Amino acid sequence: MEKKEASVYLAPHQDDELTNLGVDLCREAAGGKEVWCLLFTDGSSSFVRTFLANGEPCPLHEGRHVYPMDRAEFARARDREFLSSLGAMGVMPERAVILPGRAQDGMLSKERAKELLLAFLAELPGRKVTLKSVMPMRSVRQNPDHTALALAAEEVFREGKAATLEFFYEMIHEEYDVPEKEGLIRLTPSEKEKKRLLKAARAYGTWNPEEGYFAIGYHSVKDEFDAFIRDPHALVRREA
Ligand SMILES: [Zn+2]
Ligand SMILES: [Zn+2]
Repeated sequence: MEKKEASVYLAPHQDDELTNLGVDLCREAAGGKEVWCLLFTDGSSSFVRTFLANGEPCPLHEGRHVYPMDRAEFARARDREFLSSLGAMGVMPERAVILPGRAQDGMLSKERAKELLLAFLAELPGRKVTLKSVMPMRSVRQNPDHTALALAAEEVFREGKAATLEFFYEMIHEEYDVPEKEGLIRLTPSEKEKKRLLKAARAYGTWNPEEGYFAIGYHSVKDEFDAFIRDPHALVRREA
């Protein structure tokens, strides 16, 4: 019997599933594929946590920011943005997975990432799995959680525990002319896909503190979001 196919998107932090993997994720989810997205850290080390409590005016919002949150509360607020982004891209709620035992933001090791990924795959038997990850970067400085997760995905693939591995080039490095760019294919969304992606981007820009929406993604990497909204695309390479 043919094995059922499943695509497993690996997000180091809340928002990577959109800005780095979004065009492909959106396409596969809408195309009826079995799409999973796993979150490997809590995203709690962002400067936005203190920024939201600094009592200062914000260039993006009216009034002052007086929203103190501890790490766990802040992580939950980021998770709400993540889940809402995945919902907008058409991922079924039960397949948007905040991994139990995820690492604290900035503390993900390759070993931990691999352990979390293998534990997830063990509960997904009988599937032909394609892993979708950000690419490990050697030529430019990369967020260490991103490197750890990318190298873990590569090991899992090399050990034959996933059928296919696709690496996505990170948008923040797009200006650089580096060897990692070799063989990349550019994915451009259709108008319909674009609508879903913009809706997903809005999940990270929603400012509604009473309801627990603090536009954390947008406060954190405004320029990246603006660039993505102007020209949503992805750059991908299938590993052999
Ligand atoms: Zn990230
Ligand atoms: Zn603000």
